[in-house]
Amino acid sequence: MTNGTLNDILLDSEFQEYPYMVEEFAFDNAEERRKVRQSGTGWIEVIAGSMFSGKSEELIRRLNRARIARQRVQVFKPGIDERYSVEEIASHSGQKHMSIPVSSTAEMLNHVLDDTEVIGIDEAQFFDMAIIDAANALAESGKRVIIAGLDQDFMGKPFEPMPQLLSIAEFITKTHAICVKCGSTANYSQRTVESEERVEVGAADKYEARCRQCFIPHADAPTLM
Ligand code: ADP
Ligand code: ZN
Repeated sequence: MTNGTLNDILLDSEFQEYPYMVEEFAFDNAEERRKVRQSGTGWIEVIAGSMFSGKSEELIRRLNRARIARQRVQVFKPGIDERYSVEEIASHSGQKHMSIPVSSTAEMLNHVLDDTEVIGIDEAQFFDMAIIDAANALAESGKRVIIAGLDQDFMGKPFEPMPQLLSIAEFITKTHAICVKCGSTANYSQRTVESEERVEVGAADKYEARCRQCFIPHADAPTLM
């Protein structure tokens, strides 16, 4: 490399790749880079983390961007999650996106249209195990499949089918909340009502985000805020 002005440096052969790199980083996030690299084929993206970690927000963000790019989008959620609205997926911070509630993977597949380019699935931990083959089949048919879900149950155990979905995904995003007890990075959904049922649908009324140190793998009194 020459030891001269900026112009000399830019003309230097080692830096001939520089404009290419600028173009690469001009994309504002990894999403577009994935699309460019993967063009022509479908793929699976999984967004996994505890409750309140921003999974739904991130899913809604990606779906909105796909719609802005005029891609045909379909979104599904299990009928079990009636937290806010049957016809929408919603984040704890109030963002919403239209969705179709379904009671099984088979029902979801019945709704999928041939020309859909992007499939969003929220609360994937409440789907049956057939979602794994379905996600692969949808990706193989050329669709971008974006799946969000809780990766651990209230005892801190892997929440099927999320572990399987994480292992077949091309791209994984782990989201974290803030521990309401100590302010650390939270990876767990602490149950705050007495119940031993694995599926106990609720939001801040039944769960809070906690870190490894503050988490207890059974019900605990809610933190006063
Ligand atoms: P998830 O889908 O992972 O449950 P959401 O996308 O629905 O998460 O909600 C994320 C939002 O929840 C945050 O942007 C923030 O406004 C809110 N929130 C409430 N409690 C917490 C917390 N303890 N840590 C981080 N965000 C929280
Ligand atoms: Zn903590």
